[in-house]
Amino acid sequence: MPTVRIDDREVKVNAEDTILDAANKAGKWIPTLCYSPVISASGSCRICMVEIDRGDRRQLVTACNYPVRRDITVYVESETAVRARQGIMKLLLARSPESEELHLLAERMGVKGTPYPKVTESQRNCILCGMCILVCEEVIDVSAIGFSGRGVEKMVTTPFKLASEECIACGACAAICPVGTIKIRPHLDDGEVEISPFKSRVKLKKCKECGELMVPEPVTKKMLGKVDFTWKEYKERALLCPVCKRKKSAEALSLVESKRG
Ligand code: SF4
Repeated sequence: MPTVRIDDREVKVNAEDTILDAANKAGKWIPTLCYSPVISASGSCRICMVEIDRGDRRQLVTACNYPVRRDITVYVESETAVRARQGIMKLLLARSPESEELHLLAERMGVKGTPYPKVTESQRNCILCGMCILVCEEVIDVSAIGFSGRGVEKMVTTPFKLASEECIACGACAAICPVGTIKIRPHLDDGEVEISPFKSRVKLKKCKECGELMVPEPVTKKMLGKVDFTWKEYKERALLCPVCKRKKSAEALSLVESKRG
């Protein structure tokens, strides 16, 4: 097992662990934004940069996707590492100036505001971390969104920037977005839900019994397509709102009791 020396601490980790894993084990905080254990670590936001000792020199690497492999010395609190992370944070604040989540993290990192001009309105509030794209592709298995454009024009969008027919409005992208830019907007009068800013709108499923609006229709469809119906009752229950589901369960229970009695 390789030994990782992180500033003043030392831990033993598995060879395939990352520097971030080692830091967590050592109780050392490294800021992260685009890291989540449910998707591949891309290191795209760069906020977890640390220095590693290369013998003749030191090198900045992203902790979330740098595998330890062998004994290694890591500097989380060196002047270079701290300044690198603070510099990245200032750039991110220019991209997403209204994000409360980002401001909270900036404060914890000792960053107050940004000297950089804010990005244009169309780019506003997205830090281009790509977590939404990865969760849509790797977890939901849909791929409704992706990067488009280059340089300052780069953005996360649907193909041709049109409302996506692939999107099932599951909301996973909104849940994982670290700066709260992606939002789920209900349009109850139309019985629909929208994933903003992608403009994707889908119908909400109505409870089979009472007509109450529930989850997006494509989500139910996808879920039912994945479930092996050895438990027959499941399909029936998936089409009911919680109130009607409880009513059905109570009815089934009283039926069993009346047969017994
Ligand atoms: S809401 Fe649409 S874009 Fe977002 S993860 Fe689900 S399928 Fe993908």
